Amino acid sequence: MKRDIFTEEHELFREQFRRFAEKEVAPRVSQWNERGMSDRETWRRCGAAGFLGASQPVEYGGAGGDFLYDAIIMEELAALRAHALMISLHSDICLPYLLAYGSEAQKRQYVPGAIAGEILLGIAMTEPGTGSDLANVQTKARRDGDHYVINGAKTFISNGQIGDLFIVVCKTDPDAVPPHTGISLLLVDAGTPGFSKGRKLDKLGLRGQDTSELAFDDCRVPVNNLLGAEGQGFKMLMQGLQQERLCIAVSAIASCRRALDDTVAYVKQRHAFGQPIAAFQNTQFTLVELATEVEIGQAFVDKLLAAHVRHDEIVSEVSMAKWWTTDLQKRLTSQCVQLHGGYGFMLEYPIAMDYADAAVQSIYAGTNEIMKVIIARRLGLG
Ligand SMILES: Cc1cc2nc3c(=O)[nH]c(=O)nc-3n(C[C@H](O)[C@H](O)[C@H](O)COP(=O)(O)OP(=O)(O)OC[C@H]3O[C@@H](n4cnc5c(N)ncnc54)[C@H](O)[C@@H]3O)c2cc1C
Repeated sequence: MKRDIFTEEHELFREQFRRFAEKEVAPRVSQWNERGMSDRETWRRCGAAGFLGASQPVEYGGAGGDFLYDAIIMEELAALRAHALMISLHSDICLPYLLAYGSEAQKRQYVPGAIAGEILLGIAMTEPGTGSDLANVQTKARRDGDHYVINGAKTFISNGQIGDLFIVVCKTDPDAVPPHTGISLLLVDAGTPGFSKGRKLDKLGLRGQDTSELAFDDCRVPVNNLLGAEGQGFKMLMQGLQQERLCIAVSAIASCRRALDDTVAYVKQRHAFGQPIAAFQNTQFTLVELATEVEIGQAFVDKLLAAHVRHDEIVSEVSMAKWWTTDLQKRLTSQCVQLHGGYGFMLEYPIAMDYADAAVQSIYAGTNEIMKVIIARRLGLG
């Protein structure tokens, strides 16, 4: 179905990004998957070509477009299975915090470098002892004169190895009641004494994306590194998470399309009992049902994208899209593996990796259960 949210400029941008990605990204995907990390040079090339600041303000080096340009990048990267290059984490999840809550000095210091692909960003919320229960983070930042002294540990942090600047979720007031009012966001440069990068974690899927542990041992950062106001961290995170969850829904539907298209092609060429697998009614009905759900999901995501660009408040709907599209992605990739038979279980077939990559989609950016908790609350159910 023709999608009606994109203008001619958006479509031209898609063509431009697709050409760039085919040349600069696609040839590196398998290498990234093998070594568990993307490379800085590609980030720099993305920055130089203007793809890291598509929707960021012109005064800091961005292109000043709307969020649909970012969505296009996410869709095209999903189509290439280039999960290693988490542009959305950098540009659509981390950068907006700097732009929305950073002081002018912080913006001047970090944003142009981030848009150029010189300063790679990450956000460190999750800890070994707490993920969903964000208000319970234990990493502490104690004020000491003109500095904060950070102690604690983070885990599962995307861009953990390659990142240069992290937005670190800390308790500046561990005794605050309620606890979430004691949370603040601090900017920590990778080279800061007392900050260290731990293990790069070995994962089931998203093999090319680096996910790491981070440690803070009397890590001193100037008070000027506070992002926004003390005690406002939780509120800022809740506002930022709407866009993060929409990013997941956009990528989920795009990844579904990729897996579905490949499976349709596969079942046409694979034969059994003297006919293509595609000729069996079971194959047809399975793929028809999945294709129908992808169209339904796309229509919903497009409606949310348009609403997000208008700055509508769509917290419930984005939470719905996050759980529903990622559930669909898991079901769809599982059924597509089944239609590939034994080959679907072989890692040399991309559908096997699609299946593994889908598993995390219902876990990060707030688990799907947490999405349902949010929606239930907003329905007045608890
Ligand atoms: C590949 C990857 C990349 C990641 N990148 C980042 C990153 O860049 N930055 C970052 O900060 N974090 C990141 N994370 C962490 C991720 O956001 C957390 O794993 C996620 O929020 C879940 O937290 P948890 O792992 O502690 O699970 P838990 O909170 O321990 O949850 C375990 C189970 O209990 C369920 N549960 C918990 N609370 C409730 C409840 N109230 N009601 C019903 N069920 C509940 C959960 O839904 C889940 O099924 C990443 C994780 C992965 C795997």
